[in-house]
Amino acid sequence: MSVHGPAPFAPSAPLKLFNSLTRQLEEFQPVHAGEARVYSCGPTVYNYPHIGNMRAYVFADILGRTLSFKGLKLTHVINITDVGHLTDDADDGEDKMEKMAKAQAQSIWDIAQHYTQAYWEDVKALNIRQPARWTIATEYVPQMIAFAEKIAARHCYELDSGLYFDVSTVADYGRLARAQTEDGEGRIEAVEGKRNAADFAIWRKTPPGEKRQMEWDSPWGKGAPGWHLECSVMSGEVLGFPFDIHTGGIDHREIHHPNEIAQNQAFCCTNGLDLPANSGARVWMHNNFLVERSGKMSKSSGEFLRLQLLIDKGYSPLAYRLMCLQAHYRSELEFSWDGLSAALTRLKRMLIAVGQLKERAGETEAQPGPRFTSFLERFDAAVSDDLNTPVALTVFEEVLALKKVDASEKLAALAAMDAVLGIGLLTLDRKALRLRPKGVEIEEAEIEAALEARRAARADKDFARSDALRDELAAKGVEVMDGDPLGWEWKLV
Ligand code: AMP
Ligand code: ZN
Repeated sequence: MSVHGPAPFAPSAPLKLFNSLTRQLEEFQPVHAGEARVYSCGPTVYNYPHIGNMRAYVFADILGRTLSFKGLKLTHVINITDVGHLTDDADDGEDKMEKMAKAQAQSIWDIAQHYTQAYWEDVKALNIRQPARWTIATEYVPQMIAFAEKIAARHCYELDSGLYFDVSTVADYGRLARAQTEDGEGRIEAVEGKRNAADFAIWRKTPPGEKRQMEWDSPWGKGAPGWHLECSVMSGEVLGFPFDIHTGGIDHREIHHPNEIAQNQAFCCTNGLDLPANSGARVWMHNNFLVERSGKMSKSSGEFLRLQLLIDKGYSPLAYRLMCLQAHYRSELEFSWDGLSAALTRLKRMLIAVGQLKERAGETEAQPGPRFTSFLERFDAAVSDDLNTPVALTVFEEVLALKKVDASEKLAALAAMDAVLGIGLLTLDRKALRLRPKGVEIEEAEIEAALEARRAARADKDFARSDALRDELAAKGVEVMDGDPLGWEWKLV
């Protein structure tokens, strides 16, 4: 194996990210030189994640990969919410975990373990890199109590139902949501005795005579932490205030993150949001929603859109990843099966081209030479422009289509870009894109044998036999794709 070529490409475009707090593109300035510390609100593990939830982590992954590409040492934390998230964000309703445990007659701990595992499988299938730390909410309860104790006297008051945060004690409450304190959108004054409609529970007391499956002793009696408190504590504890970037879905911009910010201000004794660092994180970033018209994203509908459903229908999870990257993270993305099929076709085309290139390049390793610099610069400019993956993808394809260039150098240029896009095209096996839809029983060896027999029949000009073989395969769910421009030959339907 030989290595030749110039030094690796060094990205130099200024990284601009959209900060929801200022509603502006801002050049990224790390809190600690050379580092990027990122916290992403993780899933509430009371059910399988739907693919909309997973869009939030594909986005966080692209952000993390871009920060790494820019040479920053990344520390990424994603939490697992296994307690405290109510069915209504405004302090009303039951704990989602308790509710599911009751419905399934299982312990909350088993529910949490099962759905955390399912979430991690989706993370893996979508090529989302492992964060430096997964913080599990129930493992941080003592720290949550200590945090609440520190802010209680100046910022909180106690009611029978819990310890509440008084949002009027911090400046600029709700700036992130651009909402008024008193009548913020979607708020319901569900708890009697709250001083302001937007006040929220940071500790929820177990009602007298009740026993919750998950409860802890605290200065305010037995109970459980509030969801907003959890994220303030886990982010500050692991990354230190102020850290660089906090991410979540756009819904969190309205209640969850303004409440985290209020707690962070109280904890850090920094009032006013004139300095972004006062909010706990310098930059707050939010992905827009994946939407689906027929309501199948809802976890309560029978066939809800979880990643496994896509797999069962024969779609590689990476086709979904590509679908996410085809839209900018701040745009709404509409899910459709046609859209997913188009993404899969695009992925196959890329993979075929990379496969041919790998054959030409052989074992030689290289760095992308000067011929590729302008492309890499454009790729860098795209991802540095608030993670513009749609443009970055087209640059990737332009390089893929380049003729008369050194195959090894071209592969190296593609590898540098793929490290950010995270599709894994250079190591992806073609077979991984030909998934077996649920219910199809035929084995690959049988298909290959039938196709071989069919090729022989056609060579003998025995078209009746050839057609019969094709029909037999069709009856078993295999569509033979004669003259397939993608060279895929057959697919399971
Ligand atoms: P949850 O498990 O409900 O706490 O949600 C996990 C993540 O998914 C959060 O960051 C949400 O903001 C995000 N999210 C929820 N629904 C969608 C959706 N349809 N599209 C994109 N992100 C979503
Ligand atoms: Zn959170």
